[in-house]
Order: sequence, then structure tokens, then C-alpha cells
Amino acid sequence: MLKMPAADGRVLARRAEIARALAAIVPHGVIEDRDALRAYESDGLTAYRQPPMLVVLPRTTEEVSRVLAWCHREGVKVVPRGSGTSLSGGALPLEDAVLLGMARFNRVLEVDYDDRVAVVQPGVTNLAVTQAVEADGFYYAPDPSSQIACSIGGNVAENSGGVHCLKYGLTTNNVLGVQLVLMDGEVVRLGGRALDPAGLDLLGLVVGSEGLLGVVTEVTVRILPKPETARAVLIGFPSVEEAGQAVADVIAAGIIPAGMEMMDRPAIHAAEAFVGAGYPLDVEALLIVELDGPAAECDHLCGEVEAIGRRNGSTVCRASASEAERLRFWAGRKAAFPAVGRISPDYYCMDGTIPRRRLPEVLQRMEQLSQTHGLRCANVFHAGDGNLHPLILYDANQEGELERAEAFGADILRLCVEVGGVLTGEHGVGVEKRDLMPAMFSETDLAHQQRVKCAFDPELLLNPGKVFPVLHRCAELGRMHVHGGQTAFPELPRF
Ligand SMILES: Cc1cc2nc3c(=O)[nH]c(=O)nc-3n(C[C@H](O)[C@H](O)[C@H](O)COP(=O)(O)OP(=O)(O)OC[C@H]3O[C@@H](n4cnc5c(N)ncnc54)[C@H](O)[C@@H]3O)c2cc1C
Repeated sequence: MLKMPAADGRVLARRAEIARALAAIVPHGVIEDRDALRAYESDGLTAYRQPPMLVVLPRTTEEVSRVLAWCHREGVKVVPRGSGTSLSGGALPLEDAVLLGMARFNRVLEVDYDDRVAVVQPGVTNLAVTQAVEADGFYYAPDPSSQIACSIGGNVAENSGGVHCLKYGLTTNNVLGVQLVLMDGEVVRLGGRALDPAGLDLLGLVVGSEGLLGVVTEVTVRILPKPETARAVLIGFPSVEEAGQAVADVIAAGIIPAGMEMMDRPAIHAAEAFVGAGYPLDVEALLIVELDGPAAECDHLCGEVEAIGRRNGSTVCRASASEAERLRFWAGRKAAFPAVGRISPDYYCMDGTIPRRRLPEVLQRMEQLSQTHGLRCANVFHAGDGNLHPLILYDANQEGELERAEAFGADILRLCVEVGGVLTGEHGVGVEKRDLMPAMFSETDLAHQQRVKCAFDPELLLNPGKVFPVLHRCAELGRMHVHGGQTAFPELPRF
């Protein structure tokens, strides 16, 4: 079981003093009651729990700035939290840190249809952004399955994805600007309202930085006009290998579906029993392929995708005939995680990415790993992106099962890296994959990544214990190579 850094006794002893100081900055916004703190003891990675020292719930950027500046001056650690749905333990509290809850930042500030942007506070849920603009025919494209609950601030911190990201990009492709408060309380703006702002792409650094570089207090997102038509095709296959080949063939044919998701037999059965989406139960793998655009193009592409399915041995194929049916097809996939929660006391959701063409081989080896570790596994994938979400089924009440689930998960992630993939697709590193980072990055790589952290937060007070397997003191990381006190630049060639 993963160990979090030990409590700092000095900070614990100062708990009441810290609470008093922060209550003066955020009146009626500090939680210290032990029972109330338990509501914050974990995020979506429920295997790990740790009540925070205390919770502070600011309402304004100025309050966030003053809280961070005070904590910076006093050497107090801070863990930012949105809605607490992270599956990698990114928002897991520390017993000697203040948990900075952003739930009160819950307003859509502005919608500008000419610029096609919405300016929102970070505590607004992902779905609420679409709900704010859908009556006018617009939507926000990234759609994590947790969209009803997860916050835009959390989406920015995790660079979250969803079924529509194959065609429309991840959060990073749909965020134009943020307001960010640094650990010393300084407020900065990165990006703006247009694509590709001048200067270094600091916005690109911050999106996906897992709450380690600053606290996001405002987000400018792109909103897109809703496509004229969207249809989903359900295609069932006798094997995951054939389904995997069909995925590769769709992409090779130059078709970019709005979403292309795969589920294996255990996931199909769990989702169907939970939601009644109309999934076939006599197949080993199910593809849901969504096509969107003008109606004629959509119909044509549906036909193409169905034909690719047939060439790969599909036994069932159904295209949605109405919007209600399309939504029903997706309802099963979107509820796949809670559906699996009904067939097992606990499940552990992994998140790795592989080159698409290695899918059949990886699935086979995962089956072997399932036997080695003696635990079942249900699979749902963002198949078009090669992003796997194996759900390892276990029972935390059975001695040693959590440890076996963790070992199984670690083996899956090492396998992803071995076949040329990466440790995470969209759920982040957090504490979950922290100790696996050396499987992917050399010490030099990690030291350079930490130099970025040091540039934003040299005292390492913001969300420590996440992402980096070892946090070196910034001074230890050494200076950049300079010659004679000045960075040496080559002469510019003259013509
Ligand atoms: C059932 C289920 C389905 C899911 N499906 C998907 C999916 O399809 N795709 C996907 O990508 N993810 C998915 N997730 C994971 C999760 O919902 C996302 O990672 C989400 O972006 C987390 O948002 P949150 O508001 O809950 O953030 P939290 O869990 O509260 O925090 C996550 C991280 O963001 C940081 N953070 C939060 N707010 C801020 C802020 N304002 N400033 C700086 N840092 C901040 C925290 O410190 C932490 O590191 C799913 C989770 C669940 C439980």
C-alpha cells in the first residue's frame, strides 16, 4: 500500500493557529471539525484515505491569493481540490496540509458567441458549461464520463478527456486561457481568448499539471456549434482482436469518428444489467462508433463503418435511428464504471495508453496477468485513442486483495510502457502512478520536470507527494549550465 509523506508535527501543533488565520481571510469558510473533514478524506481513488488538517473554501480570487500567500509565508502545504472525482488520488489530502476546496467558484461568468468562448469559474461542472450554451446550439466538447460532477478546474489540472476527444481534442485543445494564483499569492493570466497567444506556451504547461504549479481561479474555454447530426453505430464482434482490427481499419480509412469506444464481455454485461442500453449479450467485444456532421455525410460514414465492421467479422450491427436511441447507446458506456461497481465490492480503474495496433496483444497479455494475479478484469477503452481503462475487480475486505489489485494494475501500466505507450491517458499520475514514473522517465527527465515545478513553487508547498516519486529540494537540482556567468549563445549566421 502506498505510503504518504509523514505528518509534520510542527504544522499539526499549529492547526488551531492556522485555522484562525485562514478564517480571518475567508470568513465562514474554514472546516476544522474532525467529522466534517471526513467528507474530504479521499477522491475517486477511494483505496487511499487521509483526512486533511483542515479545509478552506474561498469564494474569490483575492481570497485564494491571500490564503496561498499566508501559507507560503508560514510554510504550510496546500492541496487544491475541485469535485474530488480524480481517479489517481490527485486531490488526496495530506494530514499536514490545508485542503483548498474550489466548490464555491461555481459561476459561468460570460458567454461570447462571436468569439465562441465561455469564461467560467473553476468549480463549474463540466456538464454545466454545455448546459449554459446548449439552448443556443453550442456545447463544450471534452466530456469525461464524470461530467455531471467533475469541475472545469479539475479538468484543466488533469487535462481530462472523454469519448469526444478523438475528434475534438482533450481539455488542452479546448482551453484558451486561465487565471492562475501562484503559491506566493501572485495572480497571473496565461493565454487569452484566442488560439496561440504570444510567448512561451505556459498555458500548455499548466493544463495537466495536477495542481502542482498554481491554483486555477478562472478558465476561458472554447465552445463549439453542435453538429447538425450525430449517429452512433453499435457493432458486436466474436473477439476483441476483430474489434481491435476494425478500429484500426476505421482510422486507416481516413474516418475520424466523434467517438470510438470498446467494451469487453464483462463490461458489456455489467452496463446492460445496470442501464438497459440494448447491448447484445452474445458478443465478446462491442464497438460504439459515433459519426457527426451534416446528415448526408453522417449517413454515408455510418455505412462505411458498418461495412468495415462486416469485413472484420461483426455479428451485430445497429445504427441509432433517433437521438433518444443514440443517447441510450452511450448511456451504457458512460455508466460502465458504476455498473462494474455493482458486480464487485470494489474496483480499481487503471488508465494507460498504447499504440492502437498493439491492442489485441495487450488484451491477451492482460488476460494472462488476470490469471497470474487471480483477479477478474472488465475492460472499457477509448479505442480510437488507444486509451485503456481496465477495471480490476477486488474485495478490499479480503486480506491481500487490494495489494494484489495494485500489483496487477502496476503490471498493466508497465506493459503499456513496454509496447510503446504511456502510463496515463487522461486520469493523471497523482499518487496512483507516482512510483511508476521511473518505468517511463529517466532520472534526468524527472529532474527536468521538477525544475519546472521549482520555477512555479520553489518551496514545494503545492500538492506535494503527487506525480514525482522523489521531490528534491530545488537547490539540489543544480544550476543551469552557464559559461563565464552568462548563457552562451551561438553567433547568428550573417548573410
Ligand atoms: C465515474 C468516473 C468516471 C470518470 N471518467 C473520466 C473520463 O471519461 N475522462 C477523464 O479524463 N477523467 C475521468 N474521470 C476522472 C476525473 O473525473 C477527472 O480527472 C476530473 O477532471 C477531476 O475533476 P475534479 O473536479 O473532480 O478534480 P479533483 O478530483 O478535485 O482534483 C483533481 C486534480 O486537480 C487539481 N485541481 C482541482 N481543482 C483545481 C484548481 N482549481 N486549480 C488547480 N488544481 C486543481 C487537484 O489538486 C488534483 O490534483 C472519471 C472519474 C470518475 C469517478
